[in-house]
Amino acid sequence: MNISSAYIHIPFCQQICHYCDFTKFFYNERLADEYLSALQNEIHTYIPEEKAAVKTIFVGGGTPTALTAPQLKKLLMMIENHFQVEKCEEYTFEANPGDLDLEKVKMLKAYGVNRISLGVQVFDDEMLEKIGRIHKVQDVYTNVSRLLSEGLTNISIDLMYALPGQSVKDFETTIDEALEFDLPHYSSYSLQIEPKTIFYQRYKKGTLVKPPEEDEAEMYELLQSKLKVHGVRQYEISNFAKPGYESKHNLTYWNNEYYFGIGAGAHGYLPGVRTINIRPLPAYVKQATANGRPILHKEPVGLKEQMEEEMFLGLRKVEGVSSARFEEKYGRPIHAVFTTALPQLKERGLLKEESGYLHLTERGQLLGNEVFQEFLLEG
Ligand code: SF4
Repeated sequence: MNISSAYIHIPFCQQICHYCDFTKFFYNERLADEYLSALQNEIHTYIPEEKAAVKTIFVGGGTPTALTAPQLKKLLMMIENHFQVEKCEEYTFEANPGDLDLEKVKMLKAYGVNRISLGVQVFDDEMLEKIGRIHKVQDVYTNVSRLLSEGLTNISIDLMYALPGQSVKDFETTIDEALEFDLPHYSSYSLQIEPKTIFYQRYKKGTLVKPPEEDEAEMYELLQSKLKVHGVRQYEISNFAKPGYESKHNLTYWNNEYYFGIGAGAHGYLPGVRTINIRPLPAYVKQATANGRPILHKEPVGLKEQMEEEMFLGLRKVEGVSSARFEEKYGRPIHAVFTTALPQLKERGLLKEESGYLHLTERGQLLGNEVFQEFLLEG
């Protein structure tokens, strides 16, 4: 099997943020111990013998760093026992500035982790508290300097905008402070009010108000322009990097390549099938412990679906979809597959073709879902 990447989910957090709909649970030491044993079983079922050679590993959550140091060590050893970590090009851990410490930083480095994605969100203590984060701005400074001093220089930080009560000026201050770190990678997402979150309940009651749409658009434009001036190039709708620091793991998704999805609620893509794991923790632990296959759902992916997904995912990238790569992968020219969609979208000014790549125009980016629908194939 030619699987390029592995995603491993650690669903624990020290505190639940008000906007979060990821698979996560309050950290509990006993539950985390049981979870790690179940996870070990699942990984072992996928990779029973020789270590797997993957290009990227991404350990996300939840918050992997919510684990205690001994649990973190167990996780790192488990990964090292099943994957050729030393040959892995990019090995990322997500971390929360509030629960990272020097011992954990040293341990991550010692086990070959070479990229850290820090959930910073905003440089504003009051706002951090309002959105339910546990860390303070000072924790970001302390931990970035710990990471750098231990040689973990490939750091990405996540920023959020369109938060309740956040003005364009507030977000500008956050961008400016983030850029002072001069990091190689930044991601930024606007607040989405998702069901089953505290913010959703407040929104329904009318006690939570998002900034107006014009402000949200202005925040996004500000983000794009400020990062560009700073030499941090946008390469995907929400992601920006200095040249050579684009996330190889996330590019696996947008390039529609295969990856293992391991852990509660994790999604995977293996030849011919997308997998979704069981999300509730007790059910995941029970099933993974029983047979190492905690899969809730398997979605077959035929050639038609693969070609459609190649477009939905690939057009998220600023460079877009390569016609040559498409033909090499699917054995058919892209123009012969999407005979109606391509000329129509180009004529409507939503899609452009340049140097062998099809990419969205600015207007196309704004109408993303409408554009993607056009790539649904019949039959
Ligand atoms: S730390 Fe991350 S995963 Fe955990 S609740 Fe907050 S946003 Fe969700």
